[in-house]
Amino acid sequence: MSNVYFSKARVDKWKYEHSMPGKLEGLLKKAELNRYFANEYVAVKTHFGSFGAHRIVRPVFIRKVVDALIAIGSKPFVTDTVRIMGVEYLEVANHNGINNLSVGAPVVIADGLYGNDNIMVKAGDILKEIAVASLIHDVPAMVVCSHVKGHINAGYAGAIKNMAMGGVSSSHRECGWKCGRGSMHTIGEGRMKWDEELCELCDQCVEICPLDIISFSGGKMEWEEEKCWRCGRCERGCPTGSIGFPQDDERFMRSLAEATSAVLSTFKEHKVLYINFLTEVQPECDCMPAAEVPVIQDAGILLSDDIVAIEQASIDILDRTAVLGDSLASDEDIREPGDTFGKLHKKPYNIQVEEAERLGLGSRDYDLIELED
Ligand code: SF4
Ligand code: SF4
Repeated sequence: MSNVYFSKARVDKWKYEHSMPGKLEGLLKKAELNRYFANEYVAVKTHFGSFGAHRIVRPVFIRKVVDALIAIGSKPFVTDTVRIMGVEYLEVANHNGINNLSVGAPVVIADGLYGNDNIMVKAGDILKEIAVASLIHDVPAMVVCSHVKGHINAGYAGAIKNMAMGGVSSSHRECGWKCGRGSMHTIGEGRMKWDEELCELCDQCVEICPLDIISFSGGKMEWEEEKCWRCGRCERGCPTGSIGFPQDDERFMRSLAEATSAVLSTFKEHKVLYINFLTEVQPECDCMPAAEVPVIQDAGILLSDDIVAIEQASIDILDRTAVLGDSLASDEDIREPGDTFGKLHKKPYNIQVEEAERLGLGSRDYDLIELED
């Protein structure tokens, strides 16, 4: 059984210690960071979001983590992998408030400005091998700061998805998308399908593609197959379901766990800590062009050294936290707590956690230790 420390979002007293930044400080003290990190580089892995997706882990929280690491003599830097081209992605980070001044540490791209600076690492039966971002591969220690939310493909997105998609590159210099995230997003040769009958020629897929490789000519879609990362953004952004790739939900969930296992295999034991933020729990991924209003009320912050335990605890807490009205949830007539993401996205998201446990990454049995206010 693993310990998961939890501070709830509600404020009982109008004092700093009762604020969420104050509570995060309390969690970081409880964790006794010097048990994990020495005088060494520590990656603070988060997701920078996108120009319109501002509901990321807020810079004030990243700053607390950085300050706590510096206080014990570690050398932190804040990082993420390329989702659009790297220079633009650093500008996304800055746009969303994450920069050297705000977080108190260098903000760097983990897999180079072109997203192909990575190292192949053995993965499981499905993926075989996967391109892990070189900076994450090489750094000796890491704090994984995950914004917990929904996801159109994964159903639920927390620390496992942050590691699987966020610790891996889009493309490898030799084997391209097949060795990167795309190997999780699609199956087989990953041939895009496009339904002319359904397509409204709205151009959303054109706008959302990070590589500018979709265009329309004479009402027909054109796609540069060789360049495509199979990142799935075009599919997620399409309002009519007319564009997409072959998928297998169960394989996708298992491959998330496999990629996570590959990323974590590059660290020694007790060198990775996880902090899950159950705040601004929006229904979709932070890489989308816009952040929807949250579907679940802010619940709090969790911290653990067990990725499986913290994911299970996050899911369990969200299952009992109020659903918010005038949101995508209320559009779907979801009013009561309980499996909100399952009802919204209809994906078997628990498989990612079960598979991570089966691969030995942690335990779904946990002891939830709520910090007193
Ligand atoms: S999957 Fe879609 S959005 Fe992503 S690179 Fe390929 S065409 Fe562009
Ligand atoms: S987003 Fe969908 S509907 Fe709009 S142009 Fe692209 S394929 Fe057509």
